[in-house]
Amino acid sequence: MRLPRLSRFVPGPLVRWFARPYVAGGSIEAGLAVAHDRLARFGVRATLDLLGEAVEREFQVLRNLATYEAVLDRLGADERFADPATRPTVSLKPSAFTAGPPAAARGPIFDLAGRARERGVGLTLDMEDRRWTDLTLAWSTELYAAGHDVGTVLQTRLNRTRADLEAIPPGMRLRLVIGIYPEPPEVATRSRLEMKERLLAYAARLLERGARVEFATHDEPCLERFLREVAPRAPDRCEIQMLLGVPRRPFTRRLLAGGYGLVLPFRLYVPFALSWRDATAYLRRRMDESPNMALLVLRNLLATQRATGPGAGG
Ligand SMILES: Cc1cc2nc3c(=O)[nH]c(=O)nc-3n(C[C@H](O)[C@H](O)[C@H](O)COP(=O)(O)OP(=O)(O)OC[C@H]3O[C@@H](n4cnc5c(N)ncnc54)[C@H](O)[C@@H]3O)c2cc1C
Repeated sequence: MRLPRLSRFVPGPLVRWFARPYVAGGSIEAGLAVAHDRLARFGVRATLDLLGEAVEREFQVLRNLATYEAVLDRLGADERFADPATRPTVSLKPSAFTAGPPAAARGPIFDLAGRARERGVGLTLDMEDRRWTDLTLAWSTELYAAGHDVGTVLQTRLNRTRADLEAIPPGMRLRLVIGIYPEPPEVATRSRLEMKERLLAYAARLLERGARVEFATHDEPCLERFLREVAPRAPDRCEIQMLLGVPRRPFTRRLLAGGYGLVLPFRLYVPFALSWRDATAYLRRRMDESPNMALLVLRNLLATQRATGPGAGG
């Protein structure tokens, strides 16, 4: 059972303790170091994300913009990521770039897309709650049509997604997720089972349309079905994505060893923060989604002591 806003009752320091497996650290370098470590040790790719959404002041927008510019510059120049095929991509949340109306985020995002292109770095516009769906889809498809390596995200909980995926152009990267934002029943399903069935059906449809599918879930049976039933139709256009700190080591070990039938590129979403306030917001959202997260974190931390691999603990 989902306990609404459980995280409000958890004190900040405890949230920080929870953060350990889920957040790479408090600097750009920390994010780059985790990305390089996973690539060097396991061949696992990364997408870097600055935790800085829910902006209220203009100076936060400027800080987010400057940080993303620095990340793109660093990625373009870093010898550790010389191979463009495995260079980390960058993920951003549009709300991190406006302290006013949502439409004001367009300018900074388009500037960043230009810089990402110059540095040879792929960019993904993350999907936030339903107030952002139209803008995020419009901006990402416009950028892609203009020749940028820009992708975005569709959430299968939203009923509109079945129609939205028909507007995704062939070749564009599309991350499919169930969606983390609670949405009202008028616009979204509440059934996890249905969200997961939609993940598989929408992935199949996107591949049929020529898109590139980034299948982002930690649900092992669902992922196994994707690998056995859907991805073989176009494996060169498929990728698996998970959040840093969530997947368990036995799972990722089996995945990387081909235990699910097909080995696909595997990418970790690597969040880093410049302040604890930002990291805490991200963690509170994860806690709202998984009220039993304390147990999951404990289990993951214990697994970290016992095994090595790119799963638990990041
Ligand atoms: C790479 C990536 C990018 C994402 N980007 C977005 C985005 O742009 N917009 C958006 O709305 N959502 C995004 N999400 C979140 C996504 O929508 C889901 O909320 C999240 O992935 C949980 O759903 P699930 O499919 O993994 O299945 P679930 O059924 O939620 O989880 C399956 C299993 O994974 C484990 N698990 C799940 N969550 C946790 C946790 N927090 N801690 C420990 N174990 C856990 C549990 O063992 C659980 O049984 C992203 C997810 C990933 C992996």
